[in-house]
Amino acid sequence: MKRVAIVGGGIAGIAAALRLSEAGFTPIVLETRGKLGGRATSFVDPRTGKILDNCQHVAMGCCVNLLDFYQRLGVLERMQWHKETYWANPPHEPDVMRSGWLPAPAQFTGSFMRMRMISFKDKVAIAFAMFKLMRMGYAGRERWRGRVFMDFLQETRQTTRAIERFWEPVVVSACNLSSARVDAPMAMKVFQEGFLSHRFASAMALSVVPLLDLYDPAEAIIAKTGGQVKLGVSAQAIAFDGERVTGVVTNEGLVQAAAVISAVPFDRLLKLCSPTLQAKDARLRNLDHMTTSPILGVHLVYEKPVLDQPHMVLPARATQWLFNKGVDDAGRQHIHAVISGADAWMDLDEADIARRVRHDIDWACPRARSLAPTEVRSVKEKRATFAAVPGFEALRPGPRANATGGVDNLILAGDWCDTGWPATMEGAVRSGYAAADAITKNNSLQQELPAALLARVAGLG
Ligand SMILES: Cc1cc2nc3c(=O)[nH]c(=O)nc-3n(C[C@H](O)[C@H](O)[C@H](O)COP(=O)(O)OP(=O)(O)OC[C@H]3O[C@@H](n4cnc5c(N)ncnc54)[C@H](O)[C@@H]3O)c2cc1C
Repeated sequence: MKRVAIVGGGIAGIAAALRLSEAGFTPIVLETRGKLGGRATSFVDPRTGKILDNCQHVAMGCCVNLLDFYQRLGVLERMQWHKETYWANPPHEPDVMRSGWLPAPAQFTGSFMRMRMISFKDKVAIAFAMFKLMRMGYAGRERWRGRVFMDFLQETRQTTRAIERFWEPVVVSACNLSSARVDAPMAMKVFQEGFLSHRFASAMALSVVPLLDLYDPAEAIIAKTGGQVKLGVSAQAIAFDGERVTGVVTNEGLVQAAAVISAVPFDRLLKLCSPTLQAKDARLRNLDHMTTSPILGVHLVYEKPVLDQPHMVLPARATQWLFNKGVDDAGRQHIHAVISGADAWMDLDEADIARRVRHDIDWACPRARSLAPTEVRSVKEKRATFAAVPGFEALRPGPRANATGGVDNLILAGDWCDTGWPATMEGAVRSGYAAADAITKNNSLQQELPAALLARVAGLG
């Protein structure tokens, strides 16, 4: 009765397995690929033999469940914290947004006022919108459900420069959709809970090891209660007897289980469910209405260092972020460029991608102008995340069958489930914990960072 099959060894699947193991259950993780981590993992580049992350993954202080997950894996010390965010502003030095000594929501006031990439008028407009976001409180953002965030920016009279240089880079990076497309409450959540509520919420954490290494300890933890991680095992169908699921049909045969947790993306889940199962479980009916949004990551190597800062936001450019991945013994620097909401890039070939990204790097990093990268490797993730467009939130299912019907022992997990979060590692962990809780009846979800007193006085909470 304690054997639970988990389809998918991404963060959601691993998180569910850890919590099940801790509660004395026996999770069997079935992962089609030869490694864990799903979309947040690393690969060996066949051209160079180097281990590269499929894309830079950023965690923040507000990702309390993700940090708990890393702690349980014992890998928290493999994350490096950054209190500053650097914003390119050539020909001047980059602007720095730094958490100062004031409590939230005022922690950025000093550095924000010193930023030169936007004018005083832009700053007043941004401060006014932030004030509105605080006054409406967390509940107030629900009134914007079904509208796009750009409506809010227009209603609060944001200047074009404030939108292009401040709002848009943050929204696209966090939600993987532009302000003109993203459901307003999703973007509002990012600013309310990621910036305004707590000083630590906006601190940024980057892994100092390849993402794949963060999951190293998982297998041993899962094995403690007799659980297993089966890599290279592909689920072909979820076995269903008309009332309950009985296991998972894989390329290696049937894996029997008392319950099945699906931790695959929504389009994959549909393929695993027979028409009978789909008809029986109301949660599965909306899956084909969900859509996705792409991300492009580009690894570049320069023969000399071109970027001094650990990262750089490129305001109002097609490339939104550059990450400094370090300098090797020969003095070569590895830069990772990220383009979220990358629809316009998906049909480009690598040469074209390299040309465009170089244009942005040359703009942001003067020393790159006289150099051509010696290596370029682009990674297109066409179905990188769900598209959090208006209407999406209503399609997201919870882990358990609900009053509208469903199969009791089929539990759903994945960043696309009903976590209220954008498609992030935090969302994936939350869904994994909630899926495990649906079986163990524990309460694994971590307490949110409490809104600071000043933020609460201003209306947040
Ligand atoms: C390019 C990119 C950049 C991102 N950047 C960030 C970031 O900076 N910060 C952040 O928080 N999040 C980021 N994300 C989002 C984050 O990666 C995801 O939200 C998270 O990893 C999703 O985890 P998951 O477990 O829900 O799904 P997945 O990672 O998709 O895991 C699903 C797993 O199921 C497996 N699987 C699929 N079908 C089968 C089958 N039939 N049988 C067995 N196994 C199967 C897959 O191989 C995969 O391992 C980014 C995503 C991408 C793509």
